[in-house]
Amino acid sequence: MLDIRYELTQNKKEKPDESALGFGKYYTDHMFIVDHTEGQGWHDARIVPYQPLALDPAAMVLHYAMESFEGMKAYRLPDGSVQLFRPDRNAERMQNTNHRMCLPSLSTEDFIQAVKALVKTDEDWVPHQEGTSLYIRPFVIATEPHLGVRPSATHQFIIICSPVGAYYSTGINPVKIFVEDEYTRACPGGTGFTKCGGNYAASLISQVKAHDLGYEQTLWLDGVEHKYVEEVGSMNCFFKIDGTVYTAPCVGTVLPGVTRMSCIELLKKWGIPVSEERLPVADVMKASKEGKLEEVFGTGTAAVISPVGELRYEGDVAYINDGKIGEITHKLYDTLTGIQWGKIPDDMGWTV
Ligand code: PMP
Repeated sequence: MLDIRYELTQNKKEKPDESALGFGKYYTDHMFIVDHTEGQGWHDARIVPYQPLALDPAAMVLHYAMESFEGMKAYRLPDGSVQLFRPDRNAERMQNTNHRMCLPSLSTEDFIQAVKALVKTDEDWVPHQEGTSLYIRPFVIATEPHLGVRPSATHQFIIICSPVGAYYSTGINPVKIFVEDEYTRACPGGTGFTKCGGNYAASLISQVKAHDLGYEQTLWLDGVEHKYVEEVGSMNCFFKIDGTVYTAPCVGTVLPGVTRMSCIELLKKWGIPVSEERLPVADVMKASKEGKLEEVFGTGTAAVISPVGELRYEGDVAYINDGKIGEITHKLYDTLTGIQWGKIPDDMGWTV
C-alpha cells in the first residue's frame, strides 16, 4: 500500500471541448509521482498539480533511454461512474519491461492504487461524449545524474492523464499499411516485448517512409529473416485467412497487447479458430490473390480495433474485403467497446 500525500491545485484548468479532443493534446490538473532510491525502495508517493519536471541535465534517462511506459484508459459509464479495463495486465507488462530495462517496478497492487488515486482526483476530466475516454500514461524514468552506462540509483514513477477523443473522428475507417522490408523493429533477445521509448524512437524512420508513400502505418516483419509478420506501429495485427484468425506469437519480439489478449480470449469463447503460429507475409499475399484473405485488423488501447483495408509488400498490394469492415472485426469492436464503456455486461470480469 502506498501512502499518498495530496497537494491539490488552486488553479483548475478549463476543460477542452469534448468534441475536439484529438489524442494526447490536453493534460489533466494533477499528476502522480513516487520516488525510488536504491536501498530505500519506493517513497514519497504524491499527487501534485500537473507541472514540468526538474531533471538534472545529466539524468540517465536523457542519455541512455532508461525509461519505460504504459498506456491504458478510464471510461465513463452510462450511469456517470468511471471504470478501468484490465489494469492488472498493464501493471504486469510494465514489470516485465522494467525487468528487461533494469528499472524498478511497483507491485501490481500499488500500480493500480496509484492509477485509481489519480483518476479519482481528476475524475471530472473523464469525458462523456461517445467514443471519448481518459488516456492514462504511467512511466518510469532513471533520474540519477551520471554519465556512464549502468543502472541508475534513483528513479521516478509518474502518471499523467489526457482526455482523448474517438481515435477515428470519421468512424472506423480501414487503414492502409506498408509492410517494412528494410528496417527492423525487434530481434530475438532484444526489447521488442517491452514498452520502452527506444523501440518507438527506432521505429520512426519507417513511419515517415510509410507516410511518404501514402500509407498510414508500418507492419513490421521479424528481424532475422524479414519473412514473418509481427506487429503494426502501435498495434498488434490479426489476419483472418480461410476461417482461421492468425496473430503473431508473443515470443520476445512482439508487444503483448492487452487488446490482443482480450481479442484472443473472445475469439476462443466464440469458437472461432485462432492460431498464434508464425505467419509468412508471402502467405498473406498469396491468400489475398486466392480470395482467402478475409479480414485484417490491428488491436490496441488507442483505437481498440482498426480494420486494415490495404497492405503493400514490395511491389505487391493486397486490398482487403473491398475496403469494408469484416464481420469478426466488427464483432470484436462492438464487444470490446461495449464492455469498456459499460454498454454491455462484462461477463469476462475485465473491468475495475
Ligand atoms: N504493439 C505496440 C508496439 C504498441 O505500442 C501497442 C500499444 N500499447 C500495442 C501493440 C497494443 O497494445 P495494447 O493493446 O496493450 O494497447
